[in-house]
Order: sequence, then structure tokens, then C-alpha cells
Amino acid sequence: MNLKSEPVFNLFQETGAYLRGHFRLTSGLHSHEYLQCAIVLQHPDHAQELGAGLAAALRGVGVAEVKVVASPALGGVIIGHEVARALGARHIFTERDPATGKMILRRGFKVDPGETAVVVEDVVTTGGSTRDVVEVMREAGANVVAAGSIIDRSGGGADVGVPRVSLAILNVVTYPPDNCPLCQEGIPLTKPGSRPTAS
Ligand SMILES: [Zn+2]
Repeated sequence: MNLKSEPVFNLFQETGAYLRGHFRLTSGLHSHEYLQCAIVLQHPDHAQELGAGLAAALRGVGVAEVKVVASPALGGVIIGHEVARALGARHIFTERDPATGKMILRRGFKVDPGETAVVVEDVVTTGGSTRDVVEVMREAGANVVAAGSIIDRSGGGADVGVPRVSLAILNVVTYPPDNCPLCQEGIPLTKPGSRPTAS
């Protein structure tokens, strides 16, 4: 694990959010390590601290007056809420339409024309979710000025169409399923994102 922010990594380690084992990532690749943001974010104090850090990082790229923070549910909701608290903004979230799979605003969430917005999620891997939320917010009339995540698993490469910040850049060693040393050792494979707690 190469993580360019020791305080954030320490927080993940202290709370047990840094998992070691044999994991199938969303990409389909296998890895021996995984960061589970929900484990850190279950602690309101840590969530608030990370939100304040991300708000500061957003100010660092010129974000000033933000009216609304938008996040993709579920993963982005807690951190987005805390970034909104730190920026003095409100927080809304997008969901996938069960019928079409398209990202949409539900629950009566609305954006005023030209409202300044940032998009926040927990982890950026390819940047796909963040790009989807940027697009939803633009269609709703917002002026999206930046995006942020706690963890950047793209190694800094993901392009979401607006300036992007993260608290930690992570380079995970991954293996294709047909050439994975952990598979060859017969270590059971888990899919950490959706793994039931009591197992
Ligand atoms: Zn494997």
C-alpha cells in the first residue's frame, strides 16, 4: 500500500478500516488490501474531521462560497454531509433510478439556477460516479466548481471534468483473477463492499 497521507492512513488503521485478506474489487481485479470508508465514518467525530479536511482541500483549489454539496448515495452521503457542514452549505444526494440505473435527484431535492456546487464522495476509483453526479447537478442548473473524495484510488489520474481534490492518494497492488497469487494459495475471496457484517 502506497498512501500519500499518513494521518488519514493512520485513522483507517486505528479504526480497523484497513483490511488485509483477499478481495475482489469493483473492477474485477483481486487485491490483498482494502480500505473500508464506512468503518471510519461510523464514528461521527472522525467523519467530521475528514469533512473539515476535505473542505479545507477544496478551499485550497479556490472553492469559496459553496451553496450545495452533492454526493452519490450511499457511499458519499456521510462525508458529503460533513463537508457541507464545514463549508456552511446544504447537502443533497443522488440515487440510481431503480428502473433505468441512471443517476437522479429524488426526494424533492432541488437546485436553484446557478447555485455553486461541489461533488463529494468517499472513494474515487475511475471517477465515474463523481462524473455522473456532476452531470446531474449541471442538468439541475448548478454551477459545479470542484469535486473531492477522502480516498483517490486512481493514483491521481481520474478526470471528472472539474478540479478534484482528495485527502489521500492510494496505489493498490492488484492482480488479474487468472494470475493472482492469493487465488493460487487458495485463500478465500471476499467482495468487501457488500460483505455482510455477521459472517
Ligand atoms: Zn485472487
